[in-house]
Amino acid sequence: TTILGIETSCDETAAAVVARSPKGQGTIRADIVYSQLDLHAAYGGVVPEIAARSHVSVLDRLVKKALVEADIELSALDGIAATAGPGLVGGLMVGLMTGKALALVTGKPLYAINHLEGHALTARLTDGLNFPYLLLLVSGGHTQIVLVRGVGDYRRWGTTIDDALGEAFDKTAKLLDLPYPGGPAVERAATSGDPGRFPLPVPLKGTAEPNFSFSGLKTAVRQAAEAAAPLSDQDVSDLCAAFQRAVCRSLADRMQIALRRFRSQYPECTQPALVIAGGVAANTALRTTLDACASGAGFRLVAPPIALCTDNAAMIAWAAAERLAIGLPADSLDIAPRARWPLDENAAVALGHGK
Ligand code: ATP
Ligand code: MG
Ligand code: FE
Repeated sequence: TTILGIETSCDETAAAVVARSPKGQGTIRADIVYSQLDLHAAYGGVVPEIAARSHVSVLDRLVKKALVEADIELSALDGIAATAGPGLVGGLMVGLMTGKALALVTGKPLYAINHLEGHALTARLTDGLNFPYLLLLVSGGHTQIVLVRGVGDYRRWGTTIDDALGEAFDKTAKLLDLPYPGGPAVERAATSGDPGRFPLPVPLKGTAEPNFSFSGLKTAVRQAAEAAAPLSDQDVSDLCAAFQRAVCRSLADRMQIALRRFRSQYPECTQPALVIAGGVAANTALRTTLDACASGAGFRLVAPPIALCTDNAAMIAWAAAERLAIGLPADSLDIAPRARWPLDENAAVALGHGK
């Protein structure tokens, strides 16, 4: 099966063509991402209306380019997949309407995909992973631990109770006068910093459920910064290093709970895997921490290439191919985008309980 995928849920416009063999092997035939980063940088964050307008002006061209790169005609596709949520509704409308139009003119089935399902299944495209496995999704909009049991069968074990981790990096950068996006800037500054100079709290350390919280940590950075003002470059580096260390310690502490829980639920799983996804997964300190955490608990850390960890359309096409392969129904052309759409609900769909 060969699927055209479209992704417009946030600040990336993306189109891709992905094929799935009967044995479940995935091949990316085209994968094009247009990042709007420059459009939003001046505002220090994603501006929804600017994002939606930009999707309108570039998406058609990207779809055409993806088809050319994959060397495939629309008529040879087995389906059209578009992200239907969660995300910014203006952008979702652009991608979903484009997907519907293409489905309508070609008569191909439409798959309205949950963006989070795309992230959750990517490791099967890149690494051929078998179910079940654990997913840690850390991006600008999400911070979740998800048990991936099967296609359409997910359990959210943990989530942030306030800010997403990428958001915390971005806000911390902003209050330290570092450029947007904050993640790479904080990471760069932290390399020359002393993580021990400013003591910061490790969020939720020791609590029983594997949830996350980052807004208190950000406030602690603000207070330390205010007390040390005016800040030298070294002060900023030390604060970034301290922030990053507190983040890593919190992730390690939270992941222990999930890894242990997975172990006890699946004692027969001999090679358990922890998959990381989302833009924050680009952070080297975080990767090192999770690697140690995973191997300490007997898990393999699976980190797909960064380009497939961040938002892309290959994961959306792949999710549709996986759904098609197990006979899940395509979506009706009257489906509407959903700004909020928790992943667990997919489990109900797979079990036939409807949407
Ligand atoms: P979502 O995918 O949840 O809708 P998003 O589009 O904002 O949200 P991504 O594009 O996956 O998410 O990731 C962007 C986030 O990743 C930003 O918050 C950015 O600061 C963060 N990030 C990128 N590189 C790094 C890094 N090296 N260290 C820490 N954070 C990083
Ligand atoms: Mg993004
Ligand atoms: Fe995403």
